[in-house]
Amino acid sequence: MEFRRWIIDGEILDPERGFEPRALRVEVREDPLTGHTARLLSAAGLLPPQDPDELRALGERTRAGCPFCPERAEAATPKLPAEIALEGRIRRGEALLFPNLLPYARFSSVSVYSPERHVLALDELTPRLVADNLAAQVAWARACVEADPSAGWVSINANHMLPSGSSIFHPHLQGAVNPVPTTMQRLLAQVPAGRFRDYLAHERAEGVRYLGGRARVEWLASFAPLGPCELRAFVPGVASPASLDEETVEELGAGVATAAGLYAELGYGSFNLALYGAPPGTDGYPLNLRMICRSSLTPFYRSDATCLERLHWEAAIDTSPEELARAAGDRFTKPG
Ligand SMILES: [Zn+2]
Repeated sequence: MEFRRWIIDGEILDPERGFEPRALRVEVREDPLTGHTARLLSAAGLLPPQDPDELRALGERTRAGCPFCPERAEAATPKLPAEIALEGRIRRGEALLFPNLLPYARFSSVSVYSPERHVLALDELTPRLVADNLAAQVAWARACVEADPSAGWVSINANHMLPSGSSIFHPHLQGAVNPVPTTMQRLLAQVPAGRFRDYLAHERAEGVRYLGGRARVEWLASFAPLGPCELRAFVPGVASPASLDEETVEELGAGVATAAGLYAELGYGSFNLALYGAPPGTDGYPLNLRMICRSSLTPFYRSDATCLERLHWEAAIDTSPEELARAAGDRFTKPG
C-alpha cells in the first residue's frame, strides 16, 4: 500500500528580511482509504487554545434556558415512539437519549452525557460517561434498525461545543439511522476490505502514527486528516454501531475519553466525532471513527473550516499527524 505525499515548493520576497527571497513549502498527502487529500502547513498557530474561563462563563449564561438540564429535560425533550422504546427515552448510567426535534435522518436522536452536566469540559469526559452515552445510542440504533430494516446506515456523532456546530451548549451525542448513506459513509463503504486491513497493517508496522488500543479497537493519528488533530479508530469485525457488544462499547468509550483528554491537554475545547456505520453485517467493513479538534470558543474567533475544508473538501492543518501521535504517547494502550 502506498502512502502518497508530495512536497510543493514556493517562494516569497520576505518583508521581514528586507524582501530577500525565502523558500516556502507545503505538503500534500493522500488518504490511503478514500483518496481524499490534505494540506500540511508550517506551524502557524491556526488553532489558538481554549480559555477554560470563557467556556465556563458561556456555560453559566446558557444554563437558565437549557432544555437538556434536569429542570426541563422531562417536559421539554420529545419522546420516542413505543416501537423504539416503551419508556419513551433511553437511559444508561447518567446518559439520557431522546429524539431530535430537528431530524436529520429517518431516525435522529440526541443523548446528553448527563442532564446534570451542563458544563462538561473535554478533560471531564470520563470513560464511564462516554461509554454509557454510546451504550444508549447503540440500544437506540438497534431498535431503529429492527423497526425499519431498510434504514441500515447508522452513525453516532458529536458536535462538542458551539464552534463544532452544536446549537445547544449542553454536551451531547447525536445518532442518525438512515436508508441512504451520507457521502462519507458511502465513500468508506466503497473501500475494499483488504485496503482497510493493509492500512492498519502498514500503520502498525511503521509505528509513527499508530497509537495502539486494547483487544477490540485500534487508534491512530490520521495520515491525511480531514481537520485539526484527527484521530481515527477502527473496530474490525463489526460493521454497524447497532452490532456493538458491551465490551466493545466500553473500549470505544475509554478511547474517546482518552482522545478528549489528549485534546484538552493540547489546549482545545471543542471537537467533532463521527462513528461511521455501514449496514449491519456488511462483509469486511470495519466500523470506524474520526475525531477532529475545532476552533476554541471565544469572541471573534477564526473558524477552522475555511473555503478549503468546506468547498474544496481538503483540510489545511498546521499540526502534523506525527507530532499529534508523539503527544498521544502510550495513553491509548493503557488499561482503563
Ligand atoms: Zn443544560
